[in-house]
Amino acid sequence: MNENDFKRYKKIQIYGFIFVSLFILIICFVIGYLLNRNYTLERKYNDLNDKVNSNLSEISNFDYEKDEAEFIDLEEVAFKRELKVLPDGEEYPDKQRIYLTFDDGPGKYTNELLDILEEYGVKATFFVIYQPNHEEEYRRIVDNGHTLAIHSYDHSYKKIYKSVDGFKEDIDKTYDFLLETTGQEPLFYRFPGGSSNTIFKGNKNDLIDVLNDKNLVYYDWNCDSNDASKKALSSNQIANNVIKGIGNKKEAIVLMHDTNAKLTSIEAVPLILDYYMEDDNVIFLPITETTEPIQHVKKK
Ligand code: ZN
Repeated sequence: MNENDFKRYKKIQIYGFIFVSLFILIICFVIGYLLNRNYTLERKYNDLNDKVNSNLSEISNFDYEKDEAEFIDLEEVAFKRELKVLPDGEEYPDKQRIYLTFDDGPGKYTNELLDILEEYGVKATFFVIYQPNHEEEYRRIVDNGHTLAIHSYDHSYKKIYKSVDGFKEDIDKTYDFLLETTGQEPLFYRFPGGSSNTIFKGNKNDLIDVLNDKNLVYYDWNCDSNDASKKALSSNQIANNVIKGIGNKKEAIVLMHDTNAKLTSIEAVPLILDYYMEDDNVIFLPITETTEPIQHVKKK
């Protein structure tokens, strides 16, 4: 090896060394960058995950345990039991009209409910079923000036919605029973499950024809207390659902239940009435012939 060769060899060695060092440096840099990025992304992911989880828990709590701030404290509402003007066939066009309706009764709490309504001077509507041991309650509903209306004979979807004949038979039996018990012809009807139920597979027009033939007007609702939900609700929760459901509706038909299993529904009634008692723009009415029907399904 001469001197020139040696110099060239040395040069290649130095360049090689620089090249390898640079290469290692770049690799280290890239690895460092990737690790850092991974860490940042992981942190962002965790933050987002926390946010999503807290939102999800808010959503899942929403139905049952509403945010405290959103909850109307019914204890705070001033207590003033002034009798409301009793309905006398007027339409009260300037007032917000609330129609409390109670399905599936009478039951063991009906008298308690009637006592409460009497105490507040409020009239309501009862969509009843056949309960042979509660004949006094049917009569008291009528005598107290509430509206007694047909819901069903035995509330068996299977029988009622099996056929048009089954539907008619259920209504006829209830109609005759109520007429016999109270001496008054029923004028109003509520479909078990509502007019929009999907249990009946035939043409709904046929069912509506049966009602028309009997001169029965059917009413659904535009405010659901949700007291028929699987989870038993407290009276406070039911009253909250009703008050929020009524909102600013000019006419609110409120769905509630009056059965042996629904004591909290009855206990919710004074909470609801207390809330509106001082509001002169609100009137509670029973369904009468002047009440605008709320119907989820209409005859086509
Ligand atoms: Zn019902």
